[in-house]
Amino acid sequence: MHCLDKKNHLVSNDKLRMTQQRRVILEELRKENTHPTADQLYETVRKRLPHVSLGTIYRNLELLTTIGEIQTLEIAGSQKRYDGVAQQHYHVRCVYCGRIDDAPIAPLNRLEDKLYGTTVYTIMGHRLEFLGLCPECSQNEEAVRFAEHLLAHPNGPN
Ligand SMILES: [Zn+2]
Ligand SMILES: [Zn+2]
Repeated sequence: MHCLDKKNHLVSNDKLRMTQQRRVILEELRKENTHPTADQLYETVRKRLPHVSLGTIYRNLELLTTIGEIQTLEIAGSQKRYDGVAQQHYHVRCVYCGRIDDAPIAPLNRLEDKLYGTTVYTIMGHRLEFLGLCPECSQNEEAVRFAEHLLAHPNGPN
């Protein structure tokens, strides 16, 4: 036990701080499953670590993604979002305000099999996103018109 304490003291302050920052970032990301942007997470983490920088948030999110603790969600035409749940799952996204929730269905593990032999590609995985309107935007006529137009013309401008 004493040895361990001595060892811990040898770790540089910088390294210790990084570890603590990473832990707080992960905790805040996992606290609520809102799939925040780095900016949104920065605002939350700052309440606990007032001196944290946005750059530190980005660096840690990148590292946590690399080691498989979290997922980075790439969404066409908008900021990256981060997901504290590392296991494969699908999302439902509000096309009007950008809210993202987990879609309550199990991963379709056999989807790749359906493509077997039909393409020159070796299929290694898939991504699936459901699009719609969140409860709030469903009440908004403009949002409903926007979504209807968007989803009727998925390849059109906007
Ligand atoms: Zn919405
Ligand atoms: Zn998710």
